[in-house]
Amino acid sequence: MADPTDPLDYLALDRLFSDEERAVRDTVRAWVADRVLPGIEGWFEAGEFPLEVAKDLGAMGLLGMHLTGYECAGANAVSYGLACLELEAGDSGFRSFVSVQGSLCMFPIWRFGSEEQKQRWLPPMARGEAIGCFGLTEPDVGSDPANMRTSARRDGSDWIVSGTKMWITNGSVADVAVVWARTDEGIRGFLVPTDSPGFSASDIHRKLSLRASVTSELALDEVRLPQDAVLPGVTGIKGPLSCLSEARFGIVWGAMGAARACFQTALEYAKTRVQWGRPIGGFQLTQRKLADMALELNKGMLLALHLGRLKDEGLLQPHQVSMGKMNNVREALRISREARGILGASGITLEYPVIRHMNNLESVLTYEGTNEIHTLIVGEALTGLRAYE
Ligand SMILES: Cc1cc2nc3c(=O)[nH]c(=O)nc-3n(C[C@H](O)[C@H](O)[C@H](O)COP(=O)(O)OP(=O)(O)OC[C@H]3O[C@@H](n4cnc5c(N)ncnc54)[C@H](O)[C@@H]3O)c2cc1C
Repeated sequence: MADPTDPLDYLALDRLFSDEERAVRDTVRAWVADRVLPGIEGWFEAGEFPLEVAKDLGAMGLLGMHLTGYECAGANAVSYGLACLELEAGDSGFRSFVSVQGSLCMFPIWRFGSEEQKQRWLPPMARGEAIGCFGLTEPDVGSDPANMRTSARRDGSDWIVSGTKMWITNGSVADVAVVWARTDEGIRGFLVPTDSPGFSASDIHRKLSLRASVTSELALDEVRLPQDAVLPGVTGIKGPLSCLSEARFGIVWGAMGAARACFQTALEYAKTRVQWGRPIGGFQLTQRKLADMALELNKGMLLALHLGRLKDEGLLQPHQVSMGKMNNVREALRISREARGILGASGITLEYPVIRHMNNLESVLTYEGTNEIHTLIVGEALTGLRAYE
């Protein structure tokens, strides 16, 4: 039972989780404290992701965590959400790694792949021994992926895939790329081993956000793939969109982790930083900020939990996930900016986690559907009128 005066669990939401869910949360929280927090400032500053943690994440059952069979943990959606939250309380780069591996790469193989594809890729990916990336976005095609240029044509029984994918998380460290391409039959997903002739990946540098995460450009120059490289179970844009809906669910939770870390830092700072002879937390304006931050944090948690319970019942709809992503990332960003202000000048350094989370959340606001697109998906669900095309 949560301490009723715990500012990090103001509404005593802890009691809404099962023992098993709390155990997952506590395990990941302890791992983040042990393996992420001591190194994250350095990795963020250097622009590096410590890839060696992949096997740890696999050993904890966090890769493909909500999938069943093939060495996946088969956890429920709420446990997966709590794991995302705790990872992102460390850094969005770690949650992004797990989202891409599990929701964007393992999920389509698990859902749309052949038995042979599942056997080949899912067990090593669940162990963190094989890394995946998800290639949908292109230099000229972002929010409107149905207009992609990357194409695949048949050549005998083979496929030839050509095109460029941009902003691809884990691109240069991946063993397999799930590449979406236009074909005569519509959009299809291809499992491209990254050592295929004609495939190359180069990293995008000078990012000021998600620095502890690998982001790459993929070039596919007439990459020849066998017939069985295509995901047999899906044709059309619904293939990649269903993966995005899975990953967005993790973001709904993850964003609250970044927000919690910012709130916690701002609260501690406000209680100890003294100006005018008293803690800045004693001023009414600071208390209003803290009260609003706590309110949005608790509302966002309730929203995430509700969506998680719907998902576990098999009832969650993509437009509901959009509302969750829209709200929780927007509010997490507001919380991080408010926290940054409370820290004054100290808020602009890496000595505190706040500006790192704030900058990371700018990417989270954009990827997996921008805030505008999710707003328009909600608008379409409400009115029946599509405003984004
Ligand atoms: C760090 C990072 C990692 C990423 N990882 C991946 C990955 O692993 N795989 C992958 O495929 N992609 C990845 N992405 C790409 C991401 O999904 C895209 O950036 C995102 O979909 C938006 O596309 P865009 O950047 O081209 O923006 P655009 O689509 O060009 O949008 C620019 C602006 O216009 C607005 N806009 C667009 N259309 C409309 C409209 N109809 N109405 C109103 N406003 C509109 C957008 O909301 C946005 O504000 C990543 C991005 C980042 C930053």
